[in-house]
Amino acid sequence: MSDRHPNQTPLATTTLSQRIALALGTHSRAIMASVGVLLLGTGVTAFGIAPLAPDAAELPVQRITEPALTLPALASLPEDHAFTLYRSDTVRRDDTAQSLLARLGVNDASASAFLRSDSTARQLFSARPGKTVTAETNDRHELTRLVARWLPNDERVFHRLIVERTASGGWSSRLESGELTASARLASGTIRSSLFAATDAANLPDSVAIQIAEIFSSEIDFRRDLRQGDRFSVVYEVLEADGEAMRPGRILSAQFVNDGKAHEAVWFEAPGSAKGAYYGFDGQSAQRAFLASPLQFSRVSSGYGMRFHPISGQRKAHLGVDYAAPTGTPVRTIGDGVVSFAGWQRGYGNVIEIQHRDRKSTLYAHLSRIDVRKGQKVNQGDFIGAVGSTGASTGPHLHLEFKVAGQHMDPLEVARKSESVPLQAHLRASFDEVAAAQRLKLDAAAAVQQASAE
Ligand SMILES: [Zn+2]
Repeated sequence: MSDRHPNQTPLATTTLSQRIALALGTHSRAIMASVGVLLLGTGVTAFGIAPLAPDAAELPVQRITEPALTLPALASLPEDHAFTLYRSDTVRRDDTAQSLLARLGVNDASASAFLRSDSTARQLFSARPGKTVTAETNDRHELTRLVARWLPNDERVFHRLIVERTASGGWSSRLESGELTASARLASGTIRSSLFAATDAANLPDSVAIQIAEIFSSEIDFRRDLRQGDRFSVVYEVLEADGEAMRPGRILSAQFVNDGKAHEAVWFEAPGSAKGAYYGFDGQSAQRAFLASPLQFSRVSSGYGMRFHPISGQRKAHLGVDYAAPTGTPVRTIGDGVVSFAGWQRGYGNVIEIQHRDRKSTLYAHLSRIDVRKGQKVNQGDFIGAVGSTGASTGPHLHLEFKVAGQHMDPLEVARKSESVPLQAHLRASFDEVAAAQRLKLDAAAAVQQASAE
């Protein structure tokens, strides 16, 4: 049903196009829009997709619709033959059989009745939003076939619901499962104001922006270190159901040039292993013993003030880093360790202290909530509490201290200097293969960006 032939633009004859326009009536405008989008998207290295959210199913999604017409098939039909129309849309939260079919350009009382009564077909309108749906109709707008696809969860499968008119004029429905396939997309951009502004301009989903910030989080603090003119290139997966983009997946490789210095990472899974990690192209692990930031990068926190001024009037000099963020923003431990204090302290309010290896410790203060107990083991990235304004604080923020043998240190400096683990020697050959393939794609992404900038 999804037709991606590049040669479908010119209609065979004017009489045919007139017939189509007549038959389509008021829908022709929407259909032409769909065709336009399709043509823009036909390049193999399409730059970005419709902005799918991290969990596309949770949010209203503006989709690139499937092509509305299969023009080559249409063109080959004899003059007096009926033809088939395709329309795609997304099921909305408050949709009924009638409202959905109306949007799909279907005018068919028996189809509508079947969608309302059949228990399989009714799953179209069940809890999970974000279902894509394509209707196939004849030129009298009667439904012949309807296919819906959605993601039941985060696994690599999708559900396919098919409703079809039977030979006897009745209806059949069935629910199938299919495996999502991954395809790689390239994108690149330049920082003018913020990372999100740049990824929006490149039509990249938020989840890709967040992954960029997380991958390089031991080297770049994306709240404080970005410079105008910084640029990035990225290769990421898009998970597709029957060739239709359902949601963005993992970043496969990325480059971020910050203040003239290039940072790079490539995703590598050892053959036969389900667990992968990011590495530099030299095979050094990109994962460090400490994260640069106790707050996950997000659209909300990134725009929450570039710099936060220390609370004035404190008795001691300010010995930590303050991260402005709304109350309730999750706080994570920047390294593995054991909770050595969790409770209230004058000035700090609700505070957590974590003991790490090698006489290192971190402290998280002014929390609105504490989610760990003293003596508890925690792993890097675990959420331990939430940002607040308790203790001597004039507004919601997180105060972070990092101590090495009792001496205060700059957390970002420590993160940058913390050790990285090299790739195991026996994996080197397969790593080099993956890295070489990603190198080509990243360079291609960067080259297109440079060409468009000139
Ligand atoms: Zn502070």
